[in-house]
Order: sequence, then structure tokens, then C-alpha cells
Amino acid sequence: MLGAMQDWDLRVTRIIDHAAREHPNREIVSRWADGSETRTNWAEVRHDALKMTQALRKLGVQPGDRIATLAMNHSRHLVSWYGAVGVGGVLHTINPRLFDDQLEYIANHAEDQVLLYDAAFQPIIDRMKPRWTTIRHYICFDNGQFEDWIAPEDGNAEWVTGDERDPCMLCYTSGTTGNPKGVLYEHRSTMLHAMTSIQPALFDFDARSVMLPVVPMFHAASWGLPWGGAAAGIKFVFSAVNDPAVLCELMNREKVTHSAGVPTVWLATFQHMDATGVTLPHLRQAIIGGSAAPRFMLERLMKAGVNVAHAWGMTETSPIGTTGARTWDWDDLSFEQQVDIKVMQGRTPFGVEIRCVSLDDPTQELPRDGQSSGALQVRGPWVIKRYFKAESDATDAEQWFDTGDVAIIHPDGNLQLTDRTKDVIKSGGEWISSVELENAAMSHPAVAEAAAIGIYHPRWDERPILIVVKKAGAEVSGEEIKAHLTKTVAKWWLPDAVEFVAEIPHGGTGKVSKKDLREQFRDYKLAE
Ligand code: AMP
Repeated sequence: MLGAMQDWDLRVTRIIDHAAREHPNREIVSRWADGSETRTNWAEVRHDALKMTQALRKLGVQPGDRIATLAMNHSRHLVSWYGAVGVGGVLHTINPRLFDDQLEYIANHAEDQVLLYDAAFQPIIDRMKPRWTTIRHYICFDNGQFEDWIAPEDGNAEWVTGDERDPCMLCYTSGTTGNPKGVLYEHRSTMLHAMTSIQPALFDFDARSVMLPVVPMFHAASWGLPWGGAAAGIKFVFSAVNDPAVLCELMNREKVTHSAGVPTVWLATFQHMDATGVTLPHLRQAIIGGSAAPRFMLERLMKAGVNVAHAWGMTETSPIGTTGARTWDWDDLSFEQQVDIKVMQGRTPFGVEIRCVSLDDPTQELPRDGQSSGALQVRGPWVIKRYFKAESDATDAEQWFDTGDVAIIHPDGNLQLTDRTKDVIKSGGEWISSVELENAAMSHPAVAEAAAIGIYHPRWDERPILIVVKKAGAEVSGEEIKAHLTKTVAKWWLPDAVEFVAEIPHGGTGKVSKKDLREQFRDYKLAE
């Protein structure tokens, strides 16, 4: 027997239908790379997306075809998300910061048919065109080209319908080894993720919310914001450049209440705020993810009255896995206790399950005791099952996906990331967290950036060394840094050496590239 409720497929085009019907005039503001600004709204975004489906059909695009974008955040990019999925296609957001070999690999592997791009990335197009073998049509978002392309259409069209398990979006993870891997989201998973993302414990949206997503649309589906934001009918303020002066000016003029971005964006914003005295009086919610936010950053935002929260997730988890929502006893906690909670990665929303297993024996599940650290696994309806075109599943028989993160789960469900499985350092059979060493080092006032890696040691197997970039004009010795570390880490964790460098290598998504660092220090010899 089946239940007796209506058929209402969980297809993401329903989200834009809802936004256009219920929140038609809610604005979408775009600040373009040339400094100009435009305003549109949810009704117009839907209309333009429908026009785009007509234009795509004229190009011969079929359901299931991949439609790629190489673009920063702006309203035309938003239109293209709904236009691509509306024609039954699969939206593939390409990260322009990837290296040429990766760009070549992912567009060819995805078999992209159409590429929509920002004029700012024309040099990438010119370079890559001979290497991209499947792209038939290139359409620039700027210089009137996108508008001219959809102008002949009237928008009198229907979204392509189909199964809610049809794919709608493809994102590649840059990965630390091997080729990037594609994560193929489906309409249903994206819709469930969007419905979850707008809860108070996550983005906390209502119709008054004004969000400036600093997280780019090409990074982990922009944390699902173009879908969730439409579902809640919020106002979006997009900036095609991430200059802190521009962001602060926009946030104040457009009364931005919500923001989402990686920690480095806040570092630059704080510097700008300190230099100019500018404040952000309208901001009340800041979600920080992608990598761990340092304690001082969370403290500063909390003191400014912002409900700041970590969000942990991965491209493979759509990406929301946990968020640092306030706990039931929040109001009874001291400020320090509140910060202690916020430095952790938070708890899962309904729909995500997490567990940690032993690093030495993956069949052994670890207790949620706030002490046992192990390999973090995750499962749920918006978590990957299999990489795009892979022959076998990326999960075990019970659908647990290995995140590659090392974590501790606390009795209240709080997740505390301690490392990546590839970065954790094994010394004499015991694990040393490279992340904790780095955090401790970065709390020294003379340290701009620090990274810890394991170096082969004949007796201990591996020992940590710390690679440090000093702040401009600052002076500090390796011994002083070690003395500083003893305040927070165990003695046997102290790095065997501290090396100073001008720069630490970063990968395409702005994270420290431990792979490159290990390569750089491959022949490094430690004293026995
Ligand atoms: P990506 O798929 O590029 O978004 O990278 C996902 C990885 O980023 C995760 O597996 C974590 O290692 C790291 N990450 C994401 N969010 C956080 C966070 N809030 N704190 C610490 N690390 C994070």
C-alpha cells in the first residue's frame, strides 16, 4: 500500500518557482569587477533562467548535458545555476584558481558542452581552449554577451521535469593526491540540503535576511546558498571581487545581516577594519568554514554581537556536515565557555550522521567521550555515495563515507576536528595533531602562518617540523616559538625543528598544500 499524499518531486526548480512567487521583489544586488552595480530580483532571476533554458535548447543542449561556469559571484551566475538545471542539465561550477592541468582534466572528464565565464577569466579561456575537447559553446557573462544571448527568448517555457534522483550539479574536489574527483549532486539531495540549510541552527534565514556570501559559487556549491537563499526568499548581495574595503562598504550600505566565508577573508577584513575604524553594525550571523577559524577570530566577532559559527563540511557532503549552533545551556555559560564551544566544528543537523573509528583499526568505533580521536566518517541523504564515473562506491557496506578528517566527538555531539588523516604525524606509534601545533604557533604574535609536517626519523618513525612565515617586520627565533608552544602542547609534540620561509604553498581553494610542502622538505634530515 502507498500513502495518499501528492506527488511533488524534490526538484530544485521548485525552489526558484517559490522564490519568484512568494518573494518576487526581494532584491539581488551585484557589484561587478569594474565597480558598477546592478539590481535584479527573484522574479527576474526566474524569468531570465527560463530564457536561458530556451537559449540552451537552441544550442542543442539535452537533459543530462553538463553546463559549466567559470565565474565569481553575481546575479548572472545565479541565473545560470537555475537555467542549467532548468533545462535538465548538470551545472558544473569550475574553480578558476585550479592549475591548468586540473582545469584541463575536469572539463574533459565532465564532458562539459557549454561554458559560461567572466571576462576576467578570458586569459584562462584563451590558454585552455585548445586543451578542452568537449566544450562546444563559450558564452561570456560580461560586455552584454550573456544578455544578448538570452534577449531573443521570451521566457515562456517550462522547466524540464524528471526523476528527483536525476543529477543537477557537479563539483570537483581538488584532492591532495591524484586527479580531482567529481561529486554529482542530485535534485533530491540538493533540495533536502537546502531545506536543512535555512534552519536557525544553520544559516538562520528569514525574509528579512540580507546575505553577502563571500564563499565563491565555485567552492563546494557555495555551501548551497543559491538554493537555500532562494528557498527562504532572502536578499543577496554579491561581490565579484573579495577586496575587504569593497565588502565592508557593501555590507554597511546594503545592511547585510548574514555572511559566509573562509577564515582568511575575515583576517583581511579585520585588518581593514583596524586600519580604517570601520565597523559592521548590521551583521548578526557569520558562518565560517572550509578550514578552522582561530579562537581570536571567533572571540572578536562574538564580542561585536555576531552569532558566529563554524560550519564543517566537504564538497562530498554538499557540503553541510555540522555547524556550531548555540547549545541549550548557552545563556548560563561564561563567555570563555561559549568560545570553547565555538572553536569546535559544531553538531550535525537532522539528516547527517557522524562517527569516529580507530585510525589503527577502522572496524572499531570510538566512544563519544571528548577524548578519543579517530577517522571521521559521515552518512546521510546529501553525502556522496560514488564519485562521478567511478566504478565502485566511495562508501562501505553501511554507507559510511571516510572524510579523511581526524576528529573527536564530545558527549554533547560536538565535533572537534584535530587533523587530516594524511597530515597527522605518527611519532613512536602515537599521533601528533599537525593542526594543534599550527594553531598554537599561530597564536604567537610574530607568526603570520605556520604549518607542521612529519619528517622521517629513524627512531620515532616520524617527527614534526614546523614551517613558519613571520609577520612583516617581526623577529622571532625557533627557540622562542618552541617555548611558546610548551604553553599549550605536550612536550613530546614539540617540533624537532622550526624552519622559517618567505611563503607557504597554497592549493586552488586557498588551503595550505601539505603535499607541496612535503615535497619541498623531502630531503630534509633531522638530527637523530
Ligand atoms: P572541500 O571539499 O574543499 O570543502 O574541503 C573539505 C575539507 O575542509 C574538510 O574535510 C576539512 O578538512 C576542511 N574543513 C571544512 N570545514 C572546516 C572547518 N569548519 N574547520 C576545519 N576544517 C574544515
